[in-house]
Amino acid sequence: MQDLIDELGHLPGVGPKSAQRIAFHILQSDPVDVRRLVAALTEVIDKVRFCVSCGNVSAEELCRICSDARRDGTVLCVVEESKDVVAIEKTREFRGRYHVLGGAISPIEGVGPDDLRVKELVTRLASGEVTEIILATDPNLEGEATATYLARLLKPMGLRVTRLASGLPVGGDLEYADELTLGRAFEGRRLLDV
Ligand SMILES: [Zn+2]
Repeated sequence: MQDLIDELGHLPGVGPKSAQRIAFHILQSDPVDVRRLVAALTEVIDKVRFCVSCGNVSAEELCRICSDARRDGTVLCVVEESKDVVAIEKTREFRGRYHVLGGAISPIEGVGPDDLRVKELVTRLASGEVTEIILATDPNLEGEATATYLARLLKPMGLRVTRLASGLPVGGDLEYADELTLGRAFEGRRLLDV
């Protein structure tokens, strides 16, 4: 029981008290439901991988967004994590494709551009199909630093580089913005001067 509580306590947003509550809930649940949870966890480890093109979580080699011919291939939205793709998709404001960096530049945590999928991004741009890059990194220190770095890297390549409009909660995560605010931020995106 303690092992379960410890493991649950490692999950984001789950403190020791919540971990204990969840563990006791599991203990009192129908074993059929618990086995379904275990099966879902196992399946996620075994079957989910990352799209070879954009880096988003995917069941196939190419994710459903990259393989969807109806998506606009000229606009690329750069985000930190797969969960940001989910948040932006909910707004239904964006019809282009994505590029998932896998984090943000953070000198404190020792994360530099080489630790992110920046090289993969530059490789993707070589075909010349993409004309606009929307930098949708988080509105916090690391996200801004990453956006500035990418803008300086990409602008000389002749691309239109834009950043989501302000109005997003500063210092927070993109995923915490409500759909309406995030949708508006897309519509009001501005050109980045670097
Ligand atoms: Zn993809």
